Amino acid sequence: MGALRFSQEDTKWLKTYFPNLRYDAGAQKIVGELDFCAAYDKGSDRLEFECESGIRRSRACLCDVFEVEIRLDSNSTGENGWPAVYEVGGRFAKIAEKNNIEPIDLHFFEDGACCLGIRYAPEKKLTMSRLFYGLIIPFFYRLSFTERYGLTAARNELWGEYSHGDAGHREHVKAIEAIVQKNSGRNHPCPCGSGIKFKNCCQDEVNEVLRHQMRPTRAK
Ligand SMILES: [Zn+2]
Repeated sequence: MGALRFSQEDTKWLKTYFPNLRYDAGAQKIVGELDFCAAYDKGSDRLEFECESGIRRSRACLCDVFEVEIRLDSNSTGENGWPAVYEVGGRFAKIAEKNNIEPIDLHFFEDGACCLGIRYAPEKKLTMSRLFYGLIIPFFYRLSFTERYGLTAARNELWGEYSHGDAGHREHVKAIEAIVQKNSGRNHPCPCGSGIKFKNCCQDEVNEVLRHQMRPTRAK
C-alpha cells in the first residue's frame, strides 16, 4: 500500500472540523491536537459525535484533547490502507501504569502506534471523515473513558473489543462469518449495523477473509 493522499476537499474538511490538526503534505503527516466530544449509547451501540442534551450530564459524554501524530507515508500505512496513529503526549503510558496493565491492553502496538481495529482488505477510499469518526475518535474515546473510569468500566460499558494477537484475528473471522450469514444483498444495509450499504461497507473485507479461509491447506 502506498502513501495515503487526501483530496483538497478532505483537507478542507480537516481544517473545518479539526482546526488544531495540521495536514503536512510534504512530511506526509497530520499533527497537532485532536479534540472531540463524543458519547457512547449502549442501547443503540453507537458513538455519537456530540453530546445530545439528554446525555450531556451522563458519564458517557466525554470531551477531551489528545496530542497525536498520524503518519501517512508508505512505510507507515498498513496493507489495509490505514495510517499509523501515535499518541505523542505521553498519556497512554500513564494510563497503563495507573491501571497496572501493559500498553497492549490499551490497544497500543509495541512501536507505540494505536491498533485501530482489524481489517485485511484495502480500504481504497479512506476519507478524512471515515478516518476520524470511524477509526481514530472511537479509539481515543475509549482511551479517555479508560483513563477516567478504569479498564473494567470501559470493558463493561463500551462496545466489545477484539482480543490481542491471534485470538483477536479468530474473533474477527467469526464476526465476518456472522455478517455472511445475515447478509441479504449488496444494496441492503450492511449486517454490521453501520447503516450503509453492504457493498460500500463490509463487502471487501468479507471477500478478503473468505479468500483466506478457502485457501487450500498445504499437503503434508
Ligand atoms: Zn459493515
